[in-house]
Parts: sequence; C-alpha cells; structure tokens
Amino acid sequence: MVLKTTSLNLLNQATAVMEQGFETLPPFSANIDIDKIKDILTEVATRMQDNFPYQHPLYAGQMQKPPHTIARLAYALSLWINPNNHSLDGGRVSSIMEKEAVANIAKMFGFEDSLGHLCGGGTMANLEALWISSKLAPNKLIVASQQAHYTHTRLCDVLQIPFKSIPTDQFGRMSISHLEDVLKENNVGTVVVTLGTTAIGSIDPLANILKLQSKYKFRIHIDTAYGGYFKLAKNLDSNATEAFKLINQADSIVVDPHKHGLQPYGCGCVLFKDPSVGAFYKHDSPYTYFSSEELHLGEISLECSRSGSAAVALWATQKLLPLMPGGEFATDLEKSREAALQFHTKLSQDKRFICPFVPELDIIVYAVKGSTASESSKLAKAVFDAAAKKSLHLAVANLPKHFFESKWKDLKWDQDHISCLRSCLMKPEHLDWLEKIWQILDETTSVVLEQHKVAVKK
Ligand SMILES: *Cc1c(COP(=O)(O)O)cnc(C)c1O
Repeated sequence: MVLKTTSLNLLNQATAVMEQGFETLPPFSANIDIDKIKDILTEVATRMQDNFPYQHPLYAGQMQKPPHTIARLAYALSLWINPNNHSLDGGRVSSIMEKEAVANIAKMFGFEDSLGHLCGGGTMANLEALWISSKLAPNKLIVASQQAHYTHTRLCDVLQIPFKSIPTDQFGRMSISHLEDVLKENNVGTVVVTLGTTAIGSIDPLANILKLQSKYKFRIHIDTAYGGYFKLAKNLDSNATEAFKLINQADSIVVDPHKHGLQPYGCGCVLFKDPSVGAFYKHDSPYTYFSSEELHLGEISLECSRSGSAAVALWATQKLLPLMPGGEFATDLEKSREAALQFHTKLSQDKRFICPFVPELDIIVYAVKGSTASESSKLAKAVFDAAAKKSLHLAVANLPKHFFESKWKDLKWDQDHISCLRSCLMKPEHLDWLEKIWQILDETTSVVLEQHKVAVKK
C-alpha cells in the first residue's frame, strides 16, 4: 500500500514537470464530469477483483509477470501525451527512446548495427521476421520444432509459406537428426530456433544447428520471446549457456519485453542482423513523414500506429535496471531460475510426482503419478483446482508420451499425452515463497490422492 501511495505521488509530481513543457500554450479545459468518472472507475475496480492474483507470488502458473513500478508510472505519465511511434511527427522523443531501448536489447544479444523496433508482442515480431525470411527465400520451407510456439504454423499460413515441424528429443529440444533428414530432402529457407519454449522452457541446440547451417545454408531466426533476457543469467546449464552465447549468429531475433522484461502488455521486439532488410518495408505514406529527415519507425515496421508509451516505459525500466550481467535485473532472473531448480529438487524427491526434465529456464512441469496416462491427467487437473482453492494458482500443459517413457516405465499409456502441472516461476519473489508454494501443493496433492483413492506414498 505504501508503495502505491508513494508511486502515485511521484506520478503527480512528474505530470506537473511534463506540463511545464507546454506552458506557453493558451490554457483550455476539457469538459470532464469527475463524479461520473469516479463512479465508473470504482465499478471498474470492483470488476477487476474478478482476476487471478497475477501480482502475488502464490500465482505460480502461466507466463504472467507484473510490470515494474517504473514501467507502470512511465507508461501512465506518457499517456497524457499519448505518443504514436509510427513517426517522428506522432511521437518525437518516444521514437528516440525506442531506438535507444532497442539498441540496448540488440547490444545484450551481441547484435551490432542491427535493425529493430518494438511491436505489439511476440506474434507480431515473429510475423515480421518470417515475412522478411519469405522475401529473402521465396517459396522455401520454414521449419520449427514441435515445441515451438504454435504461432509459427499459423503465421506461415498467413504468409502462404510452406511449413514443417521437426520432432523434439526427450528434453523437448529440436532433434538434430530429424532436422538433418528434413534439410537433406527439402529446400529449407529458414530454421526457427526456439531458445525457451513456451510450454516447458526448453532450449534448442543452437550450436549443432549452426553446424548444419554451414553445410545446408539456411537463415536462422531465433524465437526467444520468453527466454531472451536469460542471456544475462549466469546460472544456466551448459546447453542454454552455449546457445545464448551463440545467439548473435542469428539472422533475426524476437524477444518480448512484456514477458520477462517487466513491461505491460503490448511490447514485443524484433531485430534483424542485416539492416538492409529495412528496404522490404518500403512504402510511401502520403501523410506522415514530414517533420524530419531522420528515420521514422513506421518506415521499418509493419504495424502503423504503435504505442509510444510502451517505448517510454521500456526506456525508463532499462535506465533503472540496465541490461547487464551481474546487475539487479540479471540477478532477479537468476532467482527465478534458482526457484525452478529448487522446486525440481523437491518434486523429484517426492514419489507422488514425476518431472520429465530439469528446467532449463524458470518453467517447471510435473505430472501427478497415477497408473494410466488418463488417470495422471485427471489427478493433475484435480490438484490444479484444489490448489487454487487454497490460493495457489498453477497452470496445466499437455505433454507428449516421449518426454516420459524413459522415466516412467510402469505407466499404462491409454492416451498419447499427459496433462501435467506447470509453473512459470517468473517473479524473483518466487524463490522466497517456495516453501509456502510447496506446503500448499503437498497438502492439496495428499487430499486429492486420498479422494481418488490413489495409493502413492510421498
Ligand atoms: C509468448 C511467445 C510467443 C507469442 O508472443 P505474444 O507476445 O504472446 O504474441 C511466441 N514465441 C514464444 C517462444 C513465446 O514464448
């Protein structure tokens, strides 16, 4: 509560400073009925109570992370101007802030002199990257792993590019042998490499994919919408560390500041190593590019109007928490990863659960033991419901048989997947709350197993 009061005071002060810049204008007043607004805002506040508590550490489910206070404040502050980063005409300083913020992200990945911009999110960012791929390699196949985000299949459909998905190994990473088989028999234009898959946080083996690239020649697009900022973390395993080290070998990269970058929704980012691909965006807008000879971001972006506030919020966040290894931002990511590792240790020591793999980032998936795949799935959903009643919010993911086969030999496969529990431990506070999370999970699982008369001892 203290934080809310203090931060709203800051917003008042900053708004006053911003207004000083427009003091020479003749005053005017908008016609606002503050009482009516108050009533409706109160109604909105009441309705917003109908949400899962994403902001709380006991929310340990989907990929939802609260924006940083500075991001909220800077975003809200800039809304009194409401800049449009389509052009310098629509958002002068926020366009400059966007270029600076994007340059910082590019630098984090080791991209120099690259071209990039913010956009609505990972889907839009991937659309732009695949669109450029299709321009450079018309009619050639695009491939991504079976654990890649489903958006790639759909985007290829939108763009009318042939698409093939590549099976994964037992860790959910793109299978190199399957990839090579496809490369041998097809004209592959682009391989989408996911560093941090959405369901399980697995990291495709970039080093081996690069080896194949020297033999078969293709573009590499890296979708690291979720995982990208883990480039800064020092506590990853060797596969992930190596992949992030090589990330600058990519032709294009997508990262979502609205996932791990502490931003409100509406903030994705696409980067191209070769800035000359900007030529594909060429268009003649008869209305917008008159205030400056400088590059207008709308000239290198598929979306036209875009939130300048998103850029302002990102810029302010990076100013407070610079993107550097060992800094506060990086340390917080390391805490998330550590929380996932500790959670994994607890789960693997408990016979009621099966973890198909050690988490590569901060996402952990765990099945509840039953005698058949369908029973296990039913139990996971029951634990999901029971935990929510005790204020612990988890998520559920369907995972394929081959993730479990080597570890879970006595399971009867009456269906080809298992619904597992899934937790994205994205908040640094999750580490401190792990005991509490475990306690609720432990208790609710016991109750559920008893109700279902499943006799598995801890
Ligand atoms: C979230 C995600 C996307 C989609 O991004 P949105 O911001 O939800 O549009 C794409 N790829 C990966 C790997 C993701 O995690």
